[in-house]
Amino acid sequence: MEDCIFCKIVRGEIPAEKVYEDDNFIGILDANPKVEGHTLIIPKKHFKTLLDMPNSLGNEMTEGVKKISLKLIEDGKAEGFNLVANNFEVAGQIVPHVHFHIIPRKKGDGLKILA
Ligand code: 5GP
Ligand code: ZN
Repeated sequence: MEDCIFCKIVRGEIPAEKVYEDDNFIGILDANPKVEGHTLIIPKKHFKTLLDMPNSLGNEMTEGVKKISLKLIEDGKAEGFNLVANNFEVAGQIVPHVHFHIIPRKKGDGLKILA
């Protein structure tokens, strides 16, 4: 997708703070983080919502989520985390390229999560 911002990040055409990469996914820091360490896991291929993403990528995505989250915990940036995906505009999806938010949580942080 020519004009998709996340496709551009995957292609290296616009910069992002990459914290994770495997064959089919990247993890980048959110440009407008709710808290320090707020990360997005994004498939390298363009799919609009989770409904378009093949199930065969599910295991690899779960593995990526676990690695990113564990690192956040090990680095002292999280004690737990929320995993949030907004699918379709009505649910708050702004970037039409499927992604999951990994939001670090700490005791007493007071965050209200709807990413
Ligand atoms: P959503 O589509 O899940 O509602 O929100 C998209 C998320 O992507 C937002 O949290 C926003 O801050 C983040 N975002 C949008 N554009 C960019 C970008 O160019 N770089 C990065 N790192 N994050 C972005
Ligand atoms: Zn895209």
